[in-house]
Amino acid sequence: MLSNYFTASQTDSVREFIQTAQHIVIVTHMSPDGDAMGSSLGMRHYLKHIGKTSITNIVPNSFPSFLAWMPDADKVIIYDEHQAEADAILSTCDLLICTDFNEPKRIGALGDKIQNLACPKILIDHHLHPANFADITLSFPSSPSASELVYRLVYAIETTISSNKSASSIFSLEAAQCLYTGMMTDTGNFSFNSNHAEMYEIIGQLVALGVDKDAIYNAVFNAYSADRMRLMGYCLYQKMRIFPEHHVALICLSRKELYRFNFKSGDAEGIVNLPLQINDVYYSVFMREDKIETHEREKANGAKSKIKLSFRSQGDRPVNVFASEVFSGGGHANAAGGEYYGTLPDAIQLFLDNYELYCKKI
Ligand code: 5GP
Ligand code: MN
Repeated sequence: MLSNYFTASQTDSVREFIQTAQHIVIVTHMSPDGDAMGSSLGMRHYLKHIGKTSITNIVPNSFPSFLAWMPDADKVIIYDEHQAEADAILSTCDLLICTDFNEPKRIGALGDKIQNLACPKILIDHHLHPANFADITLSFPSSPSASELVYRLVYAIETTISSNKSASSIFSLEAAQCLYTGMMTDTGNFSFNSNHAEMYEIIGQLVALGVDKDAIYNAVFNAYSADRMRLMGYCLYQKMRIFPEHHVALICLSRKELYRFNFKSGDAEGIVNLPLQINDVYYSVFMREDKIETHEREKANGAKSKIKLSFRSQGDRPVNVFASEVFSGGGHANAAGGEYYGTLPDAIQLFLDNYELYCKKI
């Protein structure tokens, strides 16, 4: 039996919003990862399962090709490629469900749009400090994934309607596959943030529903292009700097280097984790030079590049404070991100000026 994270009033309100809604839109964060796609598509498949017919998933920008196999991924609207179509759908939406992000800024240009919508909004998330923009905020930062929260919410809703319902009647195989993917990716295939007994209870249910976890592992983690594999090798061989006193590794890639390896969305995913495999490296930072999108021009304030940063750490060594105080970002204690508008050398200098303060020698 799973413990219930939600109050009766939260579960009832979500159920009522869903029951009355005709046109539901589900959105998730920029540069969608496995948990973003898993939680938002998992919610879609639940809504389909209970007979909802107008459900639209919108993501701010494209998702990596290793997630394209996910059921209904081909139905997802990519906002920065199909803005007019998405805006038309948003204008008639009567329920908005947001998963896996804590503030409108994390969904780029879509953020302003959703804040101006008059319909009810539900936020299901596991990042710290959620902004107050939804009517119902279900925020559980101690949960390893938003996908697990979607499972728990759906389970709570359905077992409140009828207490003897089993997971096999509540979730379709498609929903189970999506939710499993998010749980797997946000824990690095159950290698961090993964000491939660109930998480394995849920996984047991998902496997019983028919999820082939080995096949999903293969589809997600063994799907690199040759270019991406070579980029990884280049990063480790030529680009990785180690600061042994503070147990820190840094990898930085310019736009020119990305171009050389025929960079595609998602190709940098996971590179930041690699240095943590080195004995005595407990902190890892990865920087990538990106182009500035139209909606970011104002924020960029004349800068020609945006540097996207990823931070990872092990154990009791939070990196989200470094990400938020120095690089306008945030995230979880062991996995955070940030951004910097300016040149790559300037971003590197900012890192060099600060890592000793934020990356403790322990
Ligand atoms: P990644 O390094 O995989 O892009 O992001 C790791 C985690 O850091 C994400 O799950 C998200 O919580 C957080 N994150 C990444 N980029 C940003 C950012 O620009 N701002 C904030 N607030 N959080 C971020
Ligand atoms: Mn997540």
